[in-house]
Amino acid sequence: MNLPPLTPRYALLGKPYHLPIPTTPLPNVELLQVSSSLADELGFDDATLNSAEFRDMMAGNRPWPGYDTRASVYSGHQFGVYVPQLGDGRALMLAEIIDTHGRRMELQLKGAGLTPYSRHADGRAVLRSSIREYLGSEAMHALGIPTTRALSLVTSPQPVYRERVETAAVVCRVAPSFVRFGHFEFFYHTGQHEALAPLADHVIDEHFPHLAGRPDRYVLWLIEVVERTAQLIAHWQAVGFCHGVMNTDNMSVLGLTLDYGPFGFLDAFDFGHICNHSDEQGRYAYGTQPEIAQWNLSRLLQACFPLLSDNDDEALDIARNIYEKYAPAYGMAARRRWSDKFGFREVRDGDDALINEMLSIMHRSKSDFTRTFRKLAQIESRSDQPAFGVREDIMDIAAFDAWVPKYRARLLSEGAADEARSAGMNAVNPIYVLRNHLAQAAIEQAERGSTEELDRLARVLATPYTQQAGMEAYAAEPPAHLRHLEVSCSS
Ligand code: AMP
Ligand code: MG
Repeated sequence: MNLPPLTPRYALLGKPYHLPIPTTPLPNVELLQVSSSLADELGFDDATLNSAEFRDMMAGNRPWPGYDTRASVYSGHQFGVYVPQLGDGRALMLAEIIDTHGRRMELQLKGAGLTPYSRHADGRAVLRSSIREYLGSEAMHALGIPTTRALSLVTSPQPVYRERVETAAVVCRVAPSFVRFGHFEFFYHTGQHEALAPLADHVIDEHFPHLAGRPDRYVLWLIEVVERTAQLIAHWQAVGFCHGVMNTDNMSVLGLTLDYGPFGFLDAFDFGHICNHSDEQGRYAYGTQPEIAQWNLSRLLQACFPLLSDNDDEALDIARNIYEKYAPAYGMAARRRWSDKFGFREVRDGDDALINEMLSIMHRSKSDFTRTFRKLAQIESRSDQPAFGVREDIMDIAAFDAWVPKYRARLLSEGAADEARSAGMNAVNPIYVLRNHLAQAAIEQAERGSTEELDRLARVLATPYTQQAGMEAYAAEPPAHLRHLEVSCSS
């Protein structure tokens, strides 16, 4: 085996942040998927990827030479309620390496066994949810959205007990850092305030190096976390991604999409869409994600009070100033994303109203979110005919027909040729997203022992903006009987 170079940094933080915990091996493991694009970037060669040692390492059955696997402690607000202790209950850091671009990357095994933070659970992940995490994170990356990635998916016939008996799987996920808002919350709420600065300094030194050593680094870092979070959520909204469990322990301080559970991509457009069947109040509905992100940031900022000032009132003032940067940052990021989706080069006054009018027509019509934007790209700006393509998916035709001339006028005011505009729109509006029913088909087949569908789906999602011959079914709306698949937190 030829492995990329180890360069532990997070491991050096030591106590009280994490503990060395061995993985618990699984029987009869099989390597089901490897993301070859990620493996290339990380610097694994083909011989290594094809070796039994690599498979065993990705299963948690063999250590990375020179590194002790470890689990970290965090806490967080789950559905708005503070839970004093969480942590890596089934995730173990496998290695910290330097990739082929010279970037430091962390590899984590999810589902590799019990840790002191497993609470009453089993430290395992089932094949179903592991396929979803594998496909979801690689699909988000291919869409150009900041996310943790997935290097591999390993299975074992070992039974795992959920609502039914399922089997075990391990995903190796990869990110520059897995530090969460919840890591800071843990040390704040347990009164270990002296542990906040070393963790923040680690994050800053490794991931925000332009701020390292500055006396005002904590303020500037938190401002960047606010900005990155705003950018991330604008991406999610624009692609119709619903995270499903935006608890503060699932929020990355690098602004990455993290912890793929009951997530989903919108089929029919619905501001109130709830993708997590366990979210009865709709706290994490599609339309509330931007404000939930802001609330989550307020929890992180509170946890960082001791970094901001010794004086509570002063810390509160500083934190409030940082907090207030979210709304404008989100507004700007979102306006840019939606303008791009609608094919506007500039962001102009009045665009919000025009965009919201169409979104509201789509919402009332339950139009397919992804397909509608591809069809919008085909509208001819110099025509006074109805916009037939999009119109087929609209119920409120009168409102839509009244909107189209305003949209055309807006397009013409920038004078772009239809062809160039449409190419630009198609570069930001995907054809293929990981719809639940597509994931489900791949899961059911994999559970029966074939990965043909999983392989194909992974391939289609790797180039989501490009039309792929013969793959029409992957761009289609779900058939009626598969429209309301229930996805819960069970994983
Ligand atoms: P989640 O809702 O997946 O973000 O998980 C919340 C917490 O429960 C995290 O601290 C997880 O590590 C932990 N957890 C979830 N599932 C398991 C499991 N099967 N075994 C151990 N810990 C788990
Ligand atoms: Mg989580």
